[in-house]
Amino acid sequence: MSDQGILAVVSGFSGAGKGTLMKELLSRYDNYALSVSATTRSPREGEAHGREYFFVTEEEFDRMVREEQLLEYARYVKHSYGTPKSYVMEQLQAGKDVILEIEIQGALKVKEKFPETLLLFVSAPDAAELRRRLTGRGSESEEVIRERLARAKEEADGMDRYDYLLINDDLDACVEEMHRIIQAQHARMSNNRRFVEKIRGELAEC
Ligand code: ADP
Ligand code: 5GP
Repeated sequence: MSDQGILAVVSGFSGAGKGTLMKELLSRYDNYALSVSATTRSPREGEAHGREYFFVTEEEFDRMVREEQLLEYARYVKHSYGTPKSYVMEQLQAGKDVILEIEIQGALKVKEKFPETLLLFVSAPDAAELRRRLTGRGSESEEVIRERLARAKEEADGMDRYDYLLINDDLDACVEEMHRIIQAQHARMSNNRRFVEKIRGELAEC
């Protein structure tokens, strides 16, 4: 058993399939805890407060920032998004592998605070498929889709700062690959200090 849970950040272009992947991963394996972010954007059809997001007003969001309740926060296409700190810390200490599904500025801030964070970047196989998925989801106006694609161009500039690339072509294969990569982190020496101390102690007695 490694020292504590893995902190993994999943980012990727809007429409790449991050939300779909997360749902699938969580339904297949039970050691994951998905952080629920706060956002000032409106809920999409089918989204529930406290499940996909905590949907808050600008004032409530500003208060969370002032009271240092957020691990990180960022602006994304006219709205604010942030990760509540207490849940993440509690779950990691309880040994859960915690996933933050957040954009790139937030991802880099988390990596700065916690250098062991695993950064995963999800892409569609190509730009045409990304556009098809964004349009097919049917939840955003043409203008918002344009803004999100513009944002994708900026994110592509920073994607090589991530540790792993996941191409979400076949959903099932992508979920399994994500799971394998995250689980492999448990074997990192830096996440096994307790074992190292224990075996050193035992050998000293031999
Ligand atoms: P994101 O959370 O990255 O913005 P979503 O999970 O909402 O993306 O997925 C965008 C759209 O693409 C959804 O309609 C979803 O059903 C579809 N989708 C996700 N993964 C795949 C895949 N592997 N193949 C085809 N369509 C997919
Ligand atoms: P959406 O509006 O499509 O749900 O999310 C828009 C973008 O905001 C996505 O790239 C998503 O990963 C990101 N995001 C969601 N929650 C957070 C958060 O707490 N912090 C940051 N920095 N980004 C977030």
